[in-house]
Amino acid sequence: SDNILEVSHLKKYFPIKGGMFGKQVGAVKAVDDVSFTLKRGTTMGLVGESGCGKSTTGRTILRLIEKTDGQVLFNGKDVYGLSRKEMRDMRTKMQIIFQDPYSSLSPRLPVGEIIGEAVREHNLVPKSEYADYVTKIMDDCGLQSYHKDRYPHEFSGGQRQRICIARALALNPEFVVCDEPVSALDVSVQAQIINLLKELQEKRNLTYLFISHDLSVVEHISDTIGVMYLGGLVETGTTADIFANPLHPYTEALFSAIPMPDPDLKRNRIILEGNIPSPANPPKGCKFHTRCRKCMEICKNQVPEVKDMGNGHKVRCHLYD
Ligand code: SF4
Ligand code: MG
Repeated sequence: SDNILEVSHLKKYFPIKGGMFGKQVGAVKAVDDVSFTLKRGTTMGLVGESGCGKSTTGRTILRLIEKTDGQVLFNGKDVYGLSRKEMRDMRTKMQIIFQDPYSSLSPRLPVGEIIGEAVREHNLVPKSEYADYVTKIMDDCGLQSYHKDRYPHEFSGGQRQRICIARALALNPEFVVCDEPVSALDVSVQAQIINLLKELQEKRNLTYLFISHDLSVVEHISDTIGVMYLGGLVETGTTADIFANPLHPYTEALFSAIPMPDPDLKRNRIILEGNIPSPANPPKGCKFHTRCRKCMEICKNQVPEVKDMGNGHKVRCHLYD
């Protein structure tokens, strides 16, 4: 199939323990009924305020943390139905790049070893080709081969992110979760890293789930966008559709904050009232109703269904019932 990833009704609840015997007294619903599909070779941007469950969604898909419920199909295979051995092989196909490239790099290993370690562990290339293989990956990621013997602290933030990308790509993955990969970098360096990711995607037919709170970065790299609020996807669609015609009141508010290049097209900035409710105690009905300007009576009690408005543009809101 065209779809490399199919996520259905994914849930991740973290138990809250309390009292002197540590009994479970509740749950943080970090990911609460998330469904979407991802086409091979494309990028889906996952956006939303911090704490809305973007990172947990990415990690649960990769099975870095265990799901509570739902299904994840990767190349048609149930990720949660794999044996330990199958999961080990699958790990090479699904990789993740983190926001902070320094904390995820071992300070005691030279860069060549950081990039090549897992390649050797997985026996991905014959011993005789190993050195050339690592050189080639470094080259593809804009790193010089003489960097091999240097240590992470000798590099700038942007170069360290290149090292992380090289390490992930050395395993020849098909799918990469990019979790805020440029948020910690200077703006001038951000564009270089984004362009590198795009270049590598074309060369290797990679699929990305690109998590970010920066909408201009997301617009630049994504084919499709998913908007999350309080653990749920409220709207998905092509990047063009979401930017030109946001349907969900939350998306509308989120995107109204982006500065427009043409002042005549200035959007009215919508200020969201109130705080984000706790994911341990989300509002009934539509989870956004406590902050929605268009809230109706039905919104307070009934969870809206997902509606397909055409061209794969989906929204979860009673306005479109
Ligand atoms: Fe607002 Fe109601 Fe739509 Fe929720 S369902 S976003 S409260 S209009
Ligand atoms: Mg995060």
